[in-house]
Amino acid sequence: MSTATCAAVQPPHPDAEEYEALLQFLYMAPVGLVQLSSDGSILMLNPLSAQLLMPLSRDGELTNLFEALAPVAPDLRQLCAAYTAPSGQVCDATRLFLHADNVGSGPQVLSLSLLKLDGARLMAVLSDITVQDRRERQLRNTDAWLNAIMTNIADYALASLDRQGRIESWNDSIGRVTGYDAAVVGQPYALFYPDDATTPAQQADRLREADENGWTLDEGLRRRADGSQFWGSAMITPLPGRAEEDNAVPAYCMIIRDISDKREISQSLRQAAYCDHLTGLFNRRAFFEAADVELARRKKSPRPVALIMLDADHFKRINDHYGHPAGDEVLRQLATAMRGVCRQVDVLARIGGEEFAVLLPSVDLDDAMAVAERLLAQVRQAPASYESQQIAYTVSLGVAMMDDDVSGFDGLLTRADQALYLAKRSGRNRVACWRPGLEEGGR
Ligand code: GH3
Ligand code: MG
Ligand code: MG
Repeated sequence: MSTATCAAVQPPHPDAEEYEALLQFLYMAPVGLVQLSSDGSILMLNPLSAQLLMPLSRDGELTNLFEALAPVAPDLRQLCAAYTAPSGQVCDATRLFLHADNVGSGPQVLSLSLLKLDGARLMAVLSDITVQDRRERQLRNTDAWLNAIMTNIADYALASLDRQGRIESWNDSIGRVTGYDAAVVGQPYALFYPDDATTPAQQADRLREADENGWTLDEGLRRRADGSQFWGSAMITPLPGRAEEDNAVPAYCMIIRDISDKREISQSLRQAAYCDHLTGLFNRRAFFEAADVELARRKKSPRPVALIMLDADHFKRINDHYGHPAGDEVLRQLATAMRGVCRQVDVLARIGGEEFAVLLPSVDLDDAMAVAERLLAQVRQAPASYESQQIAYTVSLGVAMMDDDVSGFDGLLTRADQALYLAKRSGRNRVACWRPGLEEGGR
């Protein structure tokens, strides 16, 4: 491992005792401390920061902080370059989301503050805030739940569901909020959702979740009888004593609320925490959280889960030729193309600079390959446009399926990455699919 260590610090002071005390402090400090030069090269780091950063290092190398953090904070180098003051705080407690090794545990979360010391040096302060972040998330969920139940009862649609999630009877509130008439009886509750906004497996999950937790809540587009859509929340709770009996009717209560007026607020909150600022897709954090949830559900009720990794080809050249703002616009239009070929239920994210991922719940390999091929074709036939220029570009895609040999989401990512690498090696501008043998770098 070629790592700069505390010992590499030049004594800032001739007083050896004081220097010794400083080293002692660096070793003992309860936070990770990294001193770096303005290009990110690591000049010094204490043991705790080495420990925190090690999962991000490639081949045990830890020589440049910007490079080590690029997968989780691609903008860091730019951020520092844009900070023109002679010294001061470049960023304060920015959260970095490393992926989770085991399903359900959530990502490891680091807090990063960067201080510019002078024109040549920066100091990074790192700490592990995984537990704090998890608590905050739990609190947010509770808030959302309270919010849903503590508002005016008038705009609720109350539907009772049978054990399989079919609507069990009709009442005025269903008519008022959704416009459906008594013909809804016997239909699955997915009737209130747009076609591509939920899968049968997810609907079954929600019922199971309600059984286990006492309730389940989700927010998104809902459908009225006339086909129009509205932003709504849907909460399902098991009816006391009924859910255990196999054929109990009704077994669940479903409450749908039209929260169109609240959509803007909840969307802007969500946007700040979960959206990639450039493309509006999910950011890495949101992607890994969503993947965790999907894989935890898959563990309880097995079904296919596919992952597509996408990387824009020779993107450096696009930037070099057309300029960085044009490159940004290409990435935005690529995101639009991705939205165009995916379903609402798919999780689309920008997980690196020009790297994207799509998680497709309840999709088998043939269908995942078809989505990837459609996206490839879409990019080929529709160049991006920037100002008055047409910018032709291509992408490479790797497709992998979750199966029982894959350990956790990291394993699935690795497979999709290996398939993507195969697509790149085979000439780019194509889709490749993971198969056994690829892990050794085979073709
Ligand atoms: P390859 O086909 O092997 O993927 O080649 P590449 O040039 O795309 O790959 P490389 O990883 O060497 O370079 C990625 C480039 O993507 C370099 C970087 O400037 C550019 N890039 C990363 N993030 C952004 C961004 O947010 N905006 C723009 N315009 N460019 C970006
Ligand atoms: Mg690329
Ligand atoms: Mg790349």
